[in-house]
Amino acid sequence: MQIYGWGRYPRIESEVTFPISATQCAQIVTGAGELIARGLGRSYGDSSLGSQVLDTRHLDHFLGFDEATGVLVCEAGVSLDEILRYFVPRGWFLPVTPGTRYVTIGGAIASDVHGKNHHVEGTFTDHVTWIEILLGDGEKVKTSLTQLPDLFHATCGGMGLTGIILSAALRLKPIRSSFIVETIIKAPDLESVLASFVENANSTYSVAWIDCLARGKHLGRSLLMLGEHADQDGPLQTKSGQLFKVPLDMPASLLNYGSVKAFNTLFYGKALRARHTRHIPFEPFFYPLDKLADWNRLYGKSGFIQYQFVLPLAAGASGLREVIDRIAASGRGSFLAVLKVFGKANDHLLSFPCEGFTLALDFKAEPAVFRLIEEIDEIVLSFGGHLYLTKDSLMSEATFKRGYPRWEEFESVRERYHAVGKFASAQSNRLGLK
Ligand SMILES: Cc1cc2nc3c(=O)[nH]c(=O)nc-3n(C[C@H](O)[C@H](O)[C@H](O)COP(=O)(O)OP(=O)(O)OC[C@H]3O[C@@H](n4cnc5c(N)ncnc54)[C@H](O)[C@@H]3O)c2cc1C
Repeated sequence: MQIYGWGRYPRIESEVTFPISATQCAQIVTGAGELIARGLGRSYGDSSLGSQVLDTRHLDHFLGFDEATGVLVCEAGVSLDEILRYFVPRGWFLPVTPGTRYVTIGGAIASDVHGKNHHVEGTFTDHVTWIEILLGDGEKVKTSLTQLPDLFHATCGGMGLTGIILSAALRLKPIRSSFIVETIIKAPDLESVLASFVENANSTYSVAWIDCLARGKHLGRSLLMLGEHADQDGPLQTKSGQLFKVPLDMPASLLNYGSVKAFNTLFYGKALRARHTRHIPFEPFFYPLDKLADWNRLYGKSGFIQYQFVLPLAAGASGLREVIDRIAASGRGSFLAVLKVFGKANDHLLSFPCEGFTLALDFKAEPAVFRLIEEIDEIVLSFGGHLYLTKDSLMSEATFKRGYPRWEEFESVRERYHAVGKFASAQSNRLGLK
């Protein structure tokens, strides 16, 4: 079948298997050549694509829950949506969540995903106490910070290249209400939004929407959204499901300089006051895009590129200014540009976050954009930054190896645990991993 990631670029022909148990996974792994695991395909590029793919979606059982500690044990194909639907009504929430609830536990671990609270609560795997993984020789092992720690540090953020994650233990966090107290702050330029992130470093959640087409004195104008779980007993509920659906591939010409600029101007103008606070259900705060099913079709048949990088704190304003300036000058602005602050890095070999600012951008997949992205890669590297693997579909081997200096350590762990020659994706081949 033809498969692709959320960006719908690239697309490849693949033989996909859908095992329903760990035993079936082991049979497939020992019987196959090279293969790669796949969850719900929400990574944007080619990290879950390969000529053979093991789809883990049917490994979808909860295996246990400890009410005293909040530790949930579940299979790797369980989605964050399933966890929220069962546990929010019981007063528990995800410790870290990406901007969509339609990802699996296996995918969240393999990408070591982050949310709007990295500066306070770290990445997803900082709350994972152990992982059960199927190695390339068919053996099942448990790994954690104390048990085979080298394997743990390579698997968290390791993009499926160490083995098939079968199950994991995740510490949930207690909540008293499913509402979020959200404060929206209007920032007229880049310096003021960065300063606002720093001033609000104690807010549990923070994220800014940034207008990448604004230039001159408006460059970097943003809306910063802060959030806290409501601290009084309130409703504990969640509405899953998608209200609207994009029915077909939209003409790519719909997203052009004019339409993106108009959208951005309207969005910024929508916040009438410099600062205001409101109570909202958690869904629109964490998952604003999830209500629109198949929104990735808005970019047309040829798909789109999501590009996310992080710059160390010291590079902050000047590095971001240079990137945003370059994008604004190209007129190929991103429909959605999202800025977040990261706290300290963890010790995983390929985990993306490190202390600094991270910007995520969308672009139509087209040759002029590919050239623009090569230029931005250079700016990011020159400021000591790197790119997020789960969003990537274009990075060169050289850019990867400069941005992820621990790649050789990663390769030696893979050698040790029989992953070399067994687990490979279109992305790992492009990046020159064995
Ligand atoms: C709208 C949207 C918003 C997003 N927001 C964020 C965000 O805020 N922060 C963030 O960090 N990410 C974000 N993401 C990216 C997303 O969280 C990650 O790409 C995540 O890994 C997707 O999980 P998945 O189950 O769809 O995995 P897939 O996309 O299918 O796979 C992703 C990677 O995980 C590996 N993998 C999957 N399952 C297993 C397994 N069982 N064993 C071993 N490896 C496995 C695959 O091989 C691949 O390398 C967003 C994505 C979308 C579409």
